[in-house]
Amino acid sequence: MRDRVPVNAIVPAVGPERAQEIVRASGCATAKVKVADAPGSLPADLERVAAVRDALGPAGAVRVDANARWDVDEAVAAIRALDAAAGGLQYVEQPCPTVEELAAVRRRVDVRIAADESIRRAEDPLRVAVAGAADVAVLKCAPLGGVRRALAVAEACGLPCVVSSALETSVGLAAELALAGALPELDLACGFGTGALLTADVVAEPLLPVDGYLPVPRRAPEPVLRAAVAAAPERAAWWADRLARVLASAIPAGA
Ligand SMILES: [Mg+2]
Repeated sequence: MRDRVPVNAIVPAVGPERAQEIVRASGCATAKVKVADAPGSLPADLERVAAVRDALGPAGAVRVDANARWDVDEAVAAIRALDAAAGGLQYVEQPCPTVEELAAVRRRVDVRIAADESIRRAEDPLRVAVAGAADVAVLKCAPLGGVRRALAVAEACGLPCVVSSALETSVGLAAELALAGALPELDLACGFGTGALLTADVVAEPLLPVDGYLPVPRRAPEPVLRAAVAAAPERAAWWADRLARVLASAIPAGA
Protein backbone atom coordinates (compact mmCIF):
# COMPACT_ATOMS: atom_id res chain seq x y z
CA MET A 1 0.00 0.00 0.00
CA ARG A 2 2.98 2.34 0.50
CA ASP A 3 6.69 2.28 -0.08
CA ARG A 4 7.76 4.17 3.02
CA VAL A 5 6.51 4.40 6.57
CA PRO A 6 6.65 7.32 9.02
CA VAL A 7 8.59 6.50 12.16
CA ASN A 8 8.31 7.93 15.66
CA ALA A 9 11.28 9.30 17.57
CA ILE A 10 12.00 7.40 20.80
CA VAL A 11 12.52 9.53 23.90
CA PRO A 12 13.63 7.49 26.93
CA ALA A 13 13.53 8.72 30.54
CA VAL A 14 16.01 11.56 29.98
CA GLY A 15 16.05 15.21 31.04
CA PRO A 16 14.20 17.87 29.01
CA GLU A 17 17.26 19.21 27.13
CA ARG A 18 18.35 15.75 26.04
CA ALA A 19 14.76 14.94 25.05
CA GLN A 20 14.72 17.97 22.75
CA GLU A 21 18.08 17.01 21.19
CA ILE A 22 16.77 13.52 20.43
CA VAL A 23 13.59 14.83 18.81
CA ARG A 24 15.37 17.48 16.73
CA ALA A 25 18.05 15.06 15.53
CA SER A 26 15.43 12.45 14.53
CA GLY A 27 13.63 14.49 11.87
CA CYS A 28 10.43 12.76 13.01
CA ALA A 29 7.05 14.50 13.26
CA THR A 30 5.91 12.09 16.01
CA ALA A 31 7.69 11.37 19.28
CA LYS A 32 7.03 8.53 21.70
CA VAL A 33 8.00 9.55 25.22
CA LYS A 34 8.70 7.05 27.95
CA VAL A 35 6.88 7.87 31.19
CA ALA A 36 6.31 6.19 34.58
CA ASP A 37 9.85 4.84 34.48
CA ALA A 38 10.16 4.97 38.30
CA PRO A 39 7.84 5.70 41.23
CA GLY A 40 7.40 9.45 41.66
CA SER A 41 8.57 10.22 38.12
CA LEU A 42 5.48 12.24 37.14
CA PRO A 43 7.02 15.73 37.65
CA ALA A 44 9.99 14.77 35.45
CA ASP A 45 7.61 13.14 32.94
CA LEU A 46 5.60 16.38 32.70
CA GLU A 47 8.77 18.39 32.04
CA ARG A 48 9.88 15.88 29.41
CA VAL A 49 6.62 15.90 27.42
CA ALA A 50 6.44 19.72 27.56
CA ALA A 51 10.02 19.91 26.22
CA VAL A 52 9.19 17.43 23.46
CA ARG A 53 6.15 19.47 22.43
CA ASP A 54 8.36 22.59 22.22
CA ALA A 55 10.82 20.72 20.00
CA LEU A 56 8.12 19.26 17.70
CA GLY A 57 5.97 22.36 17.41
CA PRO A 58 2.17 22.40 17.29
CA ALA A 59 1.94 20.22 14.14
CA GLY A 60 3.86 17.32 15.71
CA ALA A 61 2.35 14.42 17.62
CA VAL A 62 3.35 13.44 21.16
CA ARG A 63 2.49 9.97 22.44
CA VAL A 64 3.54 8.46 25.75
CA ASP A 65 4.24 4.87 26.79
CA ALA A 66 3.78 3.84 30.43
CA ASN A 67 4.60 0.13 29.87
CA ALA A 68 1.79 -0.93 32.26
CA ARG A 69 3.29 0.83 35.28
CA TRP A 70 0.16 2.58 36.64
CA ASP A 71 -2.99 1.41 38.41
CA VAL A 72 -6.29 2.86 37.17
CA ASP A 73 -6.45 5.91 39.45
CA GLU A 74 -2.77 6.75 38.93
CA ALA A 75 -3.27 6.43 35.18
CA VAL A 76 -6.29 8.73 35.08
CA ALA A 77 -4.50 11.46 37.08
CA ALA A 78 -1.22 11.11 35.19
CA ILE A 79 -2.85 11.06 31.74
CA ARG A 80 -4.83 14.23 32.42
CA ALA A 81 -1.68 16.02 33.63
CA LEU A 82 0.48 14.73 30.77
CA ASP A 83 -2.16 15.66 28.19
CA ALA A 84 -2.17 19.23 29.52
CA ALA A 85 1.66 19.43 29.70
CA ALA A 86 2.01 18.07 26.15
CA GLY A 87 -0.57 20.45 24.71
CA GLY A 88 -2.54 17.35 23.66
CA LEU A 89 -1.41 13.74 23.51
CA GLN A 90 -1.90 11.60 20.41
CA TYR A 91 -2.43 8.56 22.64
CA VAL A 92 -1.17 6.84 25.77
CA GLU A 93 0.24 3.37 25.32
CA GLN A 94 -0.50 0.59 27.82
CA PRO A 95 -1.17 2.69 30.95
CA CYS A 96 -2.06 -0.38 33.06
CA PRO A 97 -1.36 -4.14 32.92
CA THR A 98 -4.76 -5.70 32.19
CA VAL A 99 -7.41 -5.31 29.48
CA GLU A 100 -10.05 -4.60 32.18
CA GLU A 101 -7.92 -1.77 33.60
CA LEU A 102 -7.33 -0.30 30.14
CA ALA A 103 -11.10 -0.27 29.60
CA ALA A 104 -11.67 1.44 32.98
CA VAL A 105 -9.07 4.13 32.22
CA ARG A 106 -10.45 4.64 28.73
CA ARG A 107 -13.92 5.40 30.13
CA ARG A 108 -12.48 8.14 32.36
CA VAL A 109 -10.10 10.10 30.08
CA ASP A 110 -10.42 11.86 26.74
CA VAL A 111 -7.00 10.73 25.50
CA ARG A 112 -6.94 7.70 23.19
CA ILE A 113 -5.59 4.47 24.68
CA ALA A 114 -3.25 2.13 22.79
CA ALA A 115 -2.77 -1.51 23.73
CA ASP A 116 0.76 -2.91 23.38
CA GLU A 117 1.68 -5.50 26.02
CA SER A 118 -1.98 -6.64 25.96
CA ILE A 119 -1.42 -7.80 22.36
CA ARG A 120 0.95 -10.73 22.16
CA ARG A 121 -1.27 -13.46 20.72
CA ALA A 122 -3.44 -13.42 17.63
CA GLU A 123 -6.69 -13.45 19.67
CA ASP A 124 -5.62 -10.53 21.91
CA PRO A 125 -6.52 -7.61 19.59
CA LEU A 126 -10.06 -8.95 19.26
CA ARG A 127 -10.34 -9.23 23.03
CA VAL A 128 -9.07 -5.66 23.42
CA ALA A 129 -11.55 -4.39 20.82
CA VAL A 130 -14.52 -6.29 22.26
CA ALA A 131 -13.73 -5.08 25.79
CA GLY A 132 -13.61 -1.45 24.61
CA ALA A 133 -10.13 -1.34 26.10
CA ALA A 134 -8.27 0.60 23.41
CA ASP A 135 -8.57 2.97 20.47
CA VAL A 136 -5.32 1.87 18.84
CA ALA A 137 -3.65 -1.55 18.52
CA VAL A 138 0.15 -1.80 18.62
CA LEU A 139 1.09 -4.80 16.46
CA LYS A 140 4.40 -6.66 16.32
CA CYS A 141 4.43 -9.40 13.72
CA ALA A 142 7.06 -11.49 15.53
CA PRO A 143 4.82 -12.38 18.52
CA LEU A 144 1.71 -12.54 16.31
CA GLY A 145 3.19 -15.23 14.07
CA GLY A 146 4.42 -13.39 11.01
CA VAL A 147 3.39 -10.74 8.51
CA ARG A 148 0.34 -12.44 7.01
CA ARG A 149 -1.09 -13.49 10.37
CA ALA A 150 -0.54 -10.02 11.81
CA LEU A 151 -2.25 -8.49 8.77
CA ALA A 152 -5.24 -10.76 9.29
CA VAL A 153 -5.31 -9.75 12.97
CA ALA A 154 -5.25 -6.07 12.02
CA GLU A 155 -8.17 -6.50 9.66
CA ALA A 156 -10.19 -8.57 12.14
CA CYS A 157 -9.82 -6.23 15.13
CA GLY A 158 -10.95 -3.14 13.24
CA LEU A 159 -8.83 -0.73 15.29
CA PRO A 160 -6.36 1.77 13.84
CA CYS A 161 -2.96 0.07 14.05
CA VAL A 162 0.61 1.05 14.75
CA VAL A 163 3.32 -1.44 13.89
CA SER A 164 6.25 -1.54 16.24
CA SER A 165 9.60 -3.27 16.31
CA ALA A 166 10.17 -6.00 18.86
CA LEU A 167 13.84 -4.87 18.99
CA GLU A 168 14.79 -7.07 16.08
CA THR A 169 17.84 -6.73 13.89
CA SER A 170 17.20 -5.27 10.44
CA VAL A 171 16.16 -8.74 9.20
CA GLY A 172 13.21 -8.82 11.59
CA LEU A 173 12.57 -5.12 11.13
CA ALA A 174 12.13 -5.76 7.39
CA ALA A 175 9.22 -8.07 8.25
CA GLU A 176 7.64 -5.44 10.53
CA LEU A 177 8.04 -2.92 7.70
CA ALA A 178 6.38 -5.34 5.28
CA LEU A 179 3.38 -5.46 7.63
CA ALA A 180 3.25 -1.66 7.88
CA GLY A 181 3.53 -1.44 4.10
CA ALA A 182 0.61 -3.84 3.64
CA LEU A 183 -1.91 -2.40 6.14
CA PRO A 184 -4.95 -1.01 4.28
CA GLU A 185 -4.79 2.16 6.42
CA LEU A 186 -1.86 3.61 8.31
CA ASP A 187 -2.39 7.06 9.76
CA LEU A 188 0.03 6.81 12.68
CA ALA A 189 3.83 6.73 12.76
CA CYS A 190 5.35 3.35 13.55
CA GLY A 191 7.87 2.30 16.20
CA PHE A 192 10.70 1.38 13.85
CA GLY A 193 13.47 3.64 15.13
CA THR A 194 15.00 0.90 17.25
CA GLY A 195 17.96 0.03 15.00
CA ALA A 196 20.01 2.78 16.64
CA LEU A 197 19.50 1.08 20.04
CA LEU A 198 21.50 -1.97 18.92
CA THR A 199 25.27 -2.08 19.36
CA ALA A 200 25.56 -4.07 16.12
CA ASP A 201 23.33 -5.36 13.32
CA VAL A 202 23.58 -8.41 11.08
CA VAL A 203 23.12 -6.64 7.74
CA ALA A 204 25.54 -4.52 5.74
CA GLU A 205 23.18 -1.53 5.64
CA PRO A 206 21.01 -1.35 8.80
CA LEU A 207 17.46 -0.03 8.46
CA LEU A 208 17.81 3.36 10.15
CA PRO A 209 15.20 6.09 9.60
CA VAL A 210 16.10 9.09 7.44
CA ASP A 211 14.12 12.31 7.94
CA GLY A 212 11.54 10.41 9.97
CA TYR A 213 10.82 7.65 7.42
CA LEU A 214 11.95 4.12 6.62
CA PRO A 215 11.50 2.50 3.19
CA VAL A 216 9.51 -0.72 2.90
CA PRO A 217 12.16 -3.15 1.59
CA ARG A 218 11.22 -5.33 -1.39
CA ARG A 219 12.97 -8.32 0.18
CA ALA A 220 14.50 -9.22 3.53
CA PRO A 221 18.13 -8.10 3.80
CA GLU A 222 20.79 -10.82 4.03
CA PRO A 223 22.26 -11.40 7.50
CA VAL A 224 25.83 -11.25 6.17
CA LEU A 225 27.34 -10.17 9.52
CA ARG A 226 25.64 -12.91 11.53
CA ALA A 227 28.93 -14.56 12.51
CA ALA A 228 30.20 -11.31 14.06
CA VAL A 229 27.30 -11.18 16.54
CA ALA A 230 26.79 -14.91 17.10
CA ALA A 231 25.15 -15.88 20.39
CA ALA A 232 26.97 -18.06 22.90
CA PRO A 233 26.35 -21.79 22.28
CA GLU A 234 24.10 -22.11 25.40
CA ARG A 235 22.00 -19.19 24.19
CA ALA A 236 21.73 -20.59 20.68
CA ALA A 237 20.64 -23.94 22.17
CA TRP A 238 18.02 -22.15 24.33
CA TRP A 239 16.54 -20.54 21.20
CA ALA A 240 16.62 -23.79 19.24
CA ASP A 241 14.71 -25.48 22.09
CA ARG A 242 12.20 -22.68 22.24
CA LEU A 243 11.62 -22.73 18.48
CA ALA A 244 11.11 -26.50 18.61
CA ARG A 245 8.53 -26.10 21.40
CA VAL A 246 6.69 -23.35 19.53
CA LEU A 247 6.71 -25.32 16.30
CA ALA A 248 5.29 -28.37 18.07
CA SER A 249 2.38 -26.34 19.47
CA ALA A 250 1.75 -24.18 16.39
CA ILE A 251 -1.63 -24.04 14.72
CA PRO A 252 -1.20 -24.62 10.97
CA ALA A 253 -1.46 -21.43 8.89
CA GLY A 254 -5.00 -20.98 7.64
CA ALA A 255 -6.52 -23.06 10.46
MG1 LIG B 1 4.95 -0.05 24.27
